[in-house]
Amino acid sequence: MRVHHLVAGRMAPPLGPAIICHVLLVEHPDGLVLVDSGVGRDDLADPKRLGPTRHLLRPQPGVTAIDAVEQAGFDPADVAHVVLTHLDFDHVGGAVDFPDATWHTTAAEWSAATTDIKGIEKTRYRQAHLGGSPTVRSHAGEGDSWRHGLSAIEVLDGISLVPMIGHTRGHAAVAVQGTRPDGGEGLVLHAGDAVFDASHYDPSLSKVGILRAFEKSVARIPKRLKGNHAALATLHADPEVTVVNAHDTRVFPG
Ligand SMILES: [Zn+2]
Repeated sequence: MRVHHLVAGRMAPPLGPAIICHVLLVEHPDGLVLVDSGVGRDDLADPKRLGPTRHLLRPQPGVTAIDAVEQAGFDPADVAHVVLTHLDFDHVGGAVDFPDATWHTTAAEWSAATTDIKGIEKTRYRQAHLGGSPTVRSHAGEGDSWRHGLSAIEVLDGISLVPMIGHTRGHAAVAVQGTRPDGGEGLVLHAGDAVFDASHYDPSLSKVGILRAFEKSVARIPKRLKGNHAALATLHADPEVTVVNAHDTRVFPG
């Protein structure tokens, strides 16, 4: 399966470096599959949909998943599935622009965002995205034993949710068996927001203190972050795996 890397959002936080919403577009036998979806057209037309966090992230106009899919030469109507690392607005907002696609998320994330909302979750999850009765497959449990002591839930052939909670109560990385940016076959692991500053797992990069501080400030279960970073470093060191994350521009291929 060919894996494309797309920019589905650009944000200009007042306190830090510019960041992107890095998503994957997979040419899958069941149709096109998006992994995460950035922000949506309606969000950029009416940023109040995004709630108060928009002031911290400041999404920039003109960059969405649907635009990126079109610019990559694909028909948005062919997007059949959206596999979500979690349901924060900068990951699920763009899914609304693919009304016929089936969403995949962990059951823990779906309940935290829709039926068991507590504390910070009241503002971080936006019912403008979640309340429009999308077709959702919420996947329960931890899945099966996977690489390096982790577990994985296969949601489509070759595409798995890898539970990695901490940023949110149901956060998962997404693993895709496919063709990597360098042309080789292997696994692309989209870590979502399990890490903000990619230097946590890639020691060749320099530390970005503001991204680290922001990650801690928005984490639902902060004590889980360190373990996730260590797991991602182990995966990054695995020659079969390419690790990317959602927001660090330095790990966007090319
Ligand atoms: Zn995010």
